Amino acid sequence: MKATAELYAYTEIVPPVLEYTEVFSRGTGESSDIVRKEMYTFNDKGERSVTLRPEFTAGVVRAVVSNKLYATEEMPLKLFYCGPAFRYERPQLGRYRQFNQFGVEEIGQDSSRVDAECIIMAMQGLYMLGFQKLSLKINTIGDDATRKAYREALKSYFALHIDEMCDDCHERLQLNPMRILDCKVESDQKIAAGAPKIKDYLSEASEKRFYETLSILNDLGVEYELDDSLVRGLDYYSEVVFEIHAIAQDGTDVGALGGGGHYGGLVKELGGPDLPGVGFAMGLERVYSLMEKDGLLKNLETGIDLYVMPVGENVLNDVFVLTEEVRQLGYSADTPLAALKMGAMFKKAEKRGAKFALILGEDERDKGVAQLKNLKTKEQSEISLEHLADELDSAFHKAFPDEEEEAEGHDESCSCGCGHDGHCSCGDAEKTDEKADDSDADLVKEGCACSDADYDPEEKKEEGMK
Ligand code: AMP
Repeated sequence: MKATAELYAYTEIVPPVLEYTEVFSRGTGESSDIVRKEMYTFNDKGERSVTLRPEFTAGVVRAVVSNKLYATEEMPLKLFYCGPAFRYERPQLGRYRQFNQFGVEEIGQDSSRVDAECIIMAMQGLYMLGFQKLSLKINTIGDDATRKAYREALKSYFALHIDEMCDDCHERLQLNPMRILDCKVESDQKIAAGAPKIKDYLSEASEKRFYETLSILNDLGVEYELDDSLVRGLDYYSEVVFEIHAIAQDGTDVGALGGGGHYGGLVKELGGPDLPGVGFAMGLERVYSLMEKDGLLKNLETGIDLYVMPVGENVLNDVFVLTEEVRQLGYSADTPLAALKMGAMFKKAEKRGAKFALILGEDERDKGVAQLKNLKTKEQSEISLEHLADELDSAFHKAFPDEEEEAEGHDESCSCGCGHDGHCSCGDAEKTDEKADDSDADLVKEGCACSDADYDPEEKKEEGMK
């Protein structure tokens, strides 16, 4: 997913796990189930209420505001994140109290093309992991005027049925009747099915914007399903919202893999300028579990380049040095750090997914050579340690000739051999990560996303653009 985000020119942001509770109550929204029931909230030693992040968007926007990234970075900001989130929910298949999310936020440019880019990136990331059949559900919840009119209509409709509905829905009716549409109680869902539809309340501008986004998806051949019951459970959304679903070949449905949408007022709500944003988040456990069921995990297997084997106690230190040398040359390598039987070392090499074994005994050391064995073809040859770099270079090029051609357009040393036809599934993220490291370092230097100790959301709001 990181590799895909980088293809679309997003850079990584690493927001803190812990935020002041207001960030979520004001950002994610008082009427959302997350804020009402699912947050791990406690007072710190300074008696300030803090919360383990239940989602990333509010925290990312807080970081953008408190570090004024909107003023220092080239706009629009294109950020991706990855890490744990915490929700006090009843654990079940695909639902955990600590789970990992990957997501992106694009902040500062108001356009249906930006919204479309975010959706396409999410789909493309999943295709690159090997998913073949994804279902994109999409809807619009319109602008402020649309939602105001729609909430009134829902209030009138649900007022007639509220006596038959769950306690939560009583509260939702007061706070935000749109949240009733997310209710999981079956009998409530039946009542919600007969509720007014948002499409009948859309302002002209929102309708136009939605059809612009759909038309971009059409142009790119992205299939979607219009779902007018989709409203998403977080308060900050406006205009387009979407969810991506996939069902395992054995029929297992772990729920939505991810979802997102446009947000109009969130940056301002958290004390920043009036800038729009769009984002999506996906649950990595759900993605992983479906990949496991559909046999897609092999797409993530990269393995190491070399397993370096000492033959006997007397060469342990030489092998240690040699392993370090090949790492310095840019090859991933491991070694047992103890003298083991050859059979045991080949087993370890296989477990690590090593492409080659590099074998050194006393005789080889004294002659300045080593044995290099291709673990797939079993071909073995003697190589000169004096010319180690050239020897390894030519052995790898001989073993993986496709990569040389692909390297030009893709990645210098991608090792998947899958053809990279735009749906590359190599999972060669580590290689591209090496490059990402530098840019990440810059981001941290220029606009650190940590929770600013002096950050006071109230004060920031007053400050506004100042
Ligand atoms: P949300 O932030 O609620 O829009 O959720 C985005 C994605 O995160 C969902 O589509 C799920 O894949 C994942 N997710 C949300 N809550 C959980 C949870 N409790 N356990 C596992 N994954 C979750």
